[in-house]
Amino acid sequence: MKVLTFSDNLAEQNTYVLVHLDRAIIIDPGFNGSKVRDYLNQHRLQIEKILLTHGHFDHIRDLESFSDIPGLAVWIHPEDRIMLYQDEMNYAKAFRARFVLPPNLEIQSSDTEEMVFCNLMLRVIHTPGHTAGSSSFLIQRCLFSGDTLFLDSVGRTDLASGSRKAMHHTIKKLDQMVSNETLIYPGHGMSGRYGSMKTTNPYIYQL
Ligand SMILES: [Zn+2]
Repeated sequence: MKVLTFSDNLAEQNTYVLVHLDRAIIIDPGFNGSKVRDYLNQHRLQIEKILLTHGHFDHIRDLESFSDIPGLAVWIHPEDRIMLYQDEMNYAKAFRARFVLPPNLEIQSSDTEEMVFCNLMLRVIHTPGHTAGSSSFLIQRCLFSGDTLFLDSVGRTDLASGSRKAMHHTIKKLDQMVSNETLIYPGHGMSGRYGSMKTTNPYIYQL
């Protein structure tokens, strides 16, 4: 499996594209929809699914870039689903924008823990704290942590449905599920190995 990273200059949000065989999974289209779309077209890759780590505007805006693919599945945790429908919850206004969910997409909101991507197992880990429905995705040795875990910090917990207490539990839980070799791919900023984060991230070394 190959991991590609697309970033934008506005929110500096990371969109990840997982490529395996001739198929792709998109994690958080963010503000990178057209770049991702061009790449997938050029390489003739078929989109299997879009996964959302959470429902904030800077992670979901470019769902519209994929609205011409009827029935394309978009997964979001049930607790964050409401953010696709309510701008007060997804903070579109902070970007002086509105978010309208494109009609053709098929929103999947099951509380699933495992998905299969081609022949690879993808684990969905509920990681509340930044939002109540924040989720991280573990596949092979890669963890896509959204705005839960950054290289030297964790996501803010003062927005709607955020919780400092839940974040603390989440970081503890993740610490038990990943190894030093796990590559952490956050929703903003650089990626890195979990082992090296133990010296740079106070939320981990204070556990
Ligand atoms: Zn966020």
